[in-house]
Amino acid sequence: MARLVSGVTVWLVVGATMSVVVAWSLAITARHANLDADRETARTVVTAAEVVYIGRVSKTVGMTWASGSWERKPALVGRYRDLNQDLIPPWSGLAEPTEVFANGLADGSSREVVAYGWPVPALWMQISRIELKESAVVTNEGASGSVALPWFPDKQVGGNNLGPRTLPIRPVWRGLVVDSCLYAIVLSVLAVGAQRAIRRHRVRRGLCPRCRYRLTSNMCTECGYETSCAQRMA
Ligand SMILES: [Zn+2]
Repeated sequence: MARLVSGVTVWLVVGATMSVVVAWSLAITARHANLDADRETARTVVTAAEVVYIGRVSKTVGMTWASGSWERKPALVGRYRDLNQDLIPPWSGLAEPTEVFANGLADGSSREVVAYGWPVPALWMQISRIELKESAVVTNEGASGSVALPWFPDKQVGGNNLGPRTLPIRPVWRGLVVDSCLYAIVLSVLAVGAQRAIRRHRVRRGLCPRCRYRLTSNMCTECGYETSCAQRMA
């Protein structure tokens, strides 16, 4: 039982490591979420009085990009309706206004986020956050929840320099768990299969399946491993 628990733990750690490696590889190789991806769907919501919320999401393999902006624009209220309530990913926090906007310290707030991972997003980061009050900049934040890779060439798209490549470090917990379990299962099945194939191959050649010492009987004289009849017949 203890062996099973430790085995499962080891494979989950391997799976989690693999999820992070895959997410970071996707982040490094992605050109740019915003410009590259087709914006599949948009949602526009009129929320409480005089507040307009516009959210956009685009998804490609291994990447989810989303933006959300909150504005106080009385003229737009009533012109739009909710197109897709479930579109904005919950991990992004974009469906909630920032504190600065909620407290009236800004009359416009827009954020961009991106998540990487396969098959589902596992790690995310903020790309930018800009907040304005009467056209004056209140907040101008770049990437956060990420680590920049200064030794990699900057992202270039169509002659535009999009800044350094960055690795997201904020977990999308559900996605991280799903990806980790999946990698753990796939990798452990592959490892067990490979181990069995190697053992079968050794037994067929008359070698100890554990230490490759030449067998003269059912018991390995080198490591004490006992080969069953069934194994020898296989
Ligand atoms: Zn042996």
